[in-house]
Amino acid sequence: MSAESHPLSPPLDLVDQLRRLLGAAHVLTEAQDVAPFVEDWRGRYRGEVLAVVHPATTHEVAAVVRACAQASVSIVPQGGHTSMVGGATPVGARRDNGTAPVVVTLRRMNRIREVDAVGNTLIAEAGCVLQTLQEAADAHGRLYPVTLGAEGSCQIGGNVSTNAGGTGVLKYGNTREQVLGLEVVLPDGRIWDGLRALRKDNTGYNLKHLFIGGEGTLGLVTAVAVRLHPKPARTATAWLTLDNVENTLACLAEFQSIAGDRIAGYELLNQAQLQAVLTHCPDVRLPTDPEAPYAVLVELSDTYIKADLDGLLQDVLSGLSERGLLRDAALAANESQRAAFWHIRHSISESNRKAGMGLSTDVAVPVKSLAVFIDQARRAVQDRWPELEIVLAAHMGDGNVHFIPRFSFEQWARLPNPGATADAVRATVHDVAISLGGTFSAEHGVGHVLVDELVRLRAPLELELMQRIRTAFDPQGMMNPGKLLRC
Ligand SMILES: Cc1cc2nc3c(=O)[nH]c(=O)nc-3n(C[C@H](O)[C@H](O)[C@H](O)COP(=O)(O)OP(=O)(O)OC[C@H]3O[C@@H](n4cnc5c(N)ncnc54)[C@H](O)[C@@H]3O)c2cc1C
Repeated sequence: MSAESHPLSPPLDLVDQLRRLLGAAHVLTEAQDVAPFVEDWRGRYRGEVLAVVHPATTHEVAAVVRACAQASVSIVPQGGHTSMVGGATPVGARRDNGTAPVVVTLRRMNRIREVDAVGNTLIAEAGCVLQTLQEAADAHGRLYPVTLGAEGSCQIGGNVSTNAGGTGVLKYGNTREQVLGLEVVLPDGRIWDGLRALRKDNTGYNLKHLFIGGEGTLGLVTAVAVRLHPKPARTATAWLTLDNVENTLACLAEFQSIAGDRIAGYELLNQAQLQAVLTHCPDVRLPTDPEAPYAVLVELSDTYIKADLDGLLQDVLSGLSERGLLRDAALAANESQRAAFWHIRHSISESNRKAGMGLSTDVAVPVKSLAVFIDQARRAVQDRWPELEIVLAAHMGDGNVHFIPRFSFEQWARLPNPGATADAVRATVHDVAISLGGTFSAEHGVGHVLVDELVRLRAPLELELMQRIRTAFDPQGMMNPGKLLRC
């Protein structure tokens, strides 16, 4: 039955057109097929879609974008769908004309296009899973240093669009510092080819930086050129336990003085976080001192094969012990122990999902203010909600704390207005961070959850400039509406 003989409403025309462009198998509309794309991984935010589409090339992406623009249907770019702030979930994206959005995923665009081990660059399609990219670099004796708990499912396009951080930022910087060039389909369907794998290119405004951390509001990233680093030949890893945050900072300062840029990770967990991991991830074993108030995972790395990092680590730890800064320390004796230490760190998100209703925050403050922040935020929250347990996981060296006030599921179910309570709790934490010169979103972005916080906490001039940039790229507000900015 042809569209000509039975005219369809505009959205159904669009679905037909998308099927013609991509093939019916790559345009999903049935409830059971679209289900994984409409709800975030924690099951907290649920949206709606007209269709979910899987284009296979940049030109197919461009054709999809043009078709959606002509039909006035908005687009939600979706990578691995691991966002912590509902960034890729099609929530609140229905347009005034009543049409639900189209989710565009790039999972079929997952090729590594090129690895240059001399120039230390890699070019990948945006749907390439982070772990695949890391493995491709490794196979060429190089390192792609962005590493995070979701690396087996998040995609490089999503990492770029959130400017992902993770546990390697202290040594290598976040995703922004790795990106050399981008290819992007703009909201009008044109393709911007900025895929230049150059270290130096001072030709006017550096447009790639607008898309990095742009959360899919300015276009669809289709390919990425990143820098690679020499692969460490040696690592030394220890699990430390400590009595308080001040001591973890004193130890960090000592590591920086002695080990310098060999520090590749410095991750803090508090007792509530350790217990959550032990309870909900049965394969996890703590190397030492499970009752300690705080634990730190510290790692040193060096590219020089003869570097004695175990000796260096032991020297630093003896000095810290003599100063009374440590409760205990365990050194990883081999690669499998090292992996087991990191497994504890990477089990945090999964255990927290099961442990209760954690209201995750993602603040950053100047490193020197971390202890004050944690103390003040704890008081501010528990003064108003004494029943809340405070869970802490922090990329300490970056000043980035996931300060997570947690309700039990039973307490949460009894709240008369849980959404408003969650907002109030988060706002309380954010206010403390801001008062110390910090930010309310260090690495997760703004997404859907923090849109109102951006309005509340950023200066009107900054908001106006951001809105003008968005409007310049996307005057009709088609790309990921309701995320990052209100429209
Ligand atoms: C277990 C776990 C641990 C995590 N740990 C960390 C961590 O340590 N550090 C950290 O920074 N984050 C962390 N995250 C959050 C998340 O993994 C990152 O934000 C990641 O970069 C998102 O990538 P994704 O492919 O899943 O993107 P999605 O969640 O699918 O999308 C994120 C945003 O990017 C946009 N987007 C996705 N792909 C594209 C594209 N091709 N073009 C344009 N826009 C696009 C989406 O519209 C959305 O706004 C963690 C998440 C989990 C589940």
